[in-house]
Amino acid sequence: TPALLCYCRAGFEPELAAELTERAALAGIGGWARAGRDDGYVLFHAAEAGAPLVQALPFRELVFARQKALLLAELTGLDPKDRLTPVLDALQGAGRYGELWVEHADSDAGKPLSALARAFGNALRPALRKRGFLTNEADPTRSRLHVFLLAGDHLLLARSQPGDSAPWAQGIPRLRLLGEAPSRSALKLEEALMVLLTPRERETLIKPGMRATDLGAAPGGWTWVLTREHLRVTAIDNGPLHAALHDTGLVDHQRADAFRWQPDTPQDWMVCDMVEQPRRVAERMATWFREGWCRHAVFNLKLPMKKRWNETRLSLDLFTDQAQVPLTLRARQLYHDREEITVFASAGGG
Ligand code: SAM
Repeated sequence: TPALLCYCRAGFEPELAAELTERAALAGIGGWARAGRDDGYVLFHAAEAGAPLVQALPFRELVFARQKALLLAELTGLDPKDRLTPVLDALQGAGRYGELWVEHADSDAGKPLSALARAFGNALRPALRKRGFLTNEADPTRSRLHVFLLAGDHLLLARSQPGDSAPWAQGIPRLRLLGEAPSRSALKLEEALMVLLTPRERETLIKPGMRATDLGAAPGGWTWVLTREHLRVTAIDNGPLHAALHDTGLVDHQRADAFRWQPDTPQDWMVCDMVEQPRRVAERMATWFREGWCRHAVFNLKLPMKKRWNETRLSLDLFTDQAQVPLTLRARQLYHDREEITVFASAGGG
């Protein structure tokens, strides 16, 4: 049966499995998820053909998937002396790929496979090219081949489409924290802007001189990211901000309750990273859009310990219902998110 291979944060397999099953069912596709605790990936098997399955679950709409690919084959009992031949045999007649990624899960079981992944990739790449299975130069217009190592003798072969998958190996964007960032949280907003906005949106929606509000701003990582884009930021928090932020001349720190504070002029952006019940945050975010206080927002929803997919769906539904304006909405559990997801919302449907 056709199956989707999706990667996720280890420990979130039940959430991803529930999300895939529910979204597929809504699209009229029955299926079952195969997910092991802390595996860092989920296989979703469907009764239908592969194409409707791939279309029913667009990568952009998935919250808990870091990557999405169509399963081609599962190879077990591989001989460590020759893993190449079975892989080449399985790819017979599959066409020519634009890129090869040999990967492993971002899990305790997967991480020790990184050296093997590198070595196997180096051996497989020329063998694929020789047979015409892989372009000589990386070609981002063609499908990508994934070799997903599960153990030394066990792997999955899968295919992803560049427009319907993450453009990063393992689904993980590599970001470096700059020395002067006030907190590691800065990486979350950096990643959100990179993952949740298209490159074009990032150019057109974030412009120097724009006004932004950061709710729950201290110590100031997110505010710092916004000042690096030359936005003027009102930072709301009863706690202190990193001193260097005041030197930018772009930051107005106000000690206030971020659930009550409201701007006196409409803001281009609002960001919010408060540790609070997700439905309470979603409700406040909705108020900002309903009242026209901001045009775009990035906010985090901290997830409870149990029923995290359910809480995600309820919070996002509550947000869109109460906002009462057409919205573009994208949500994802980012690589730098732990027990939380990050949402991008923009007034105006898209
Ligand atoms: N995004 C920040 C960064 O990059 O440095 C980290 C934010 S931290 C996770 C959450 C902040 O929200 C804390 O500084 C806390 O004081 C603030 N906070 C929580 N509830 C608040 C409220 N009701 N009003 C204002 N600030 C609040």
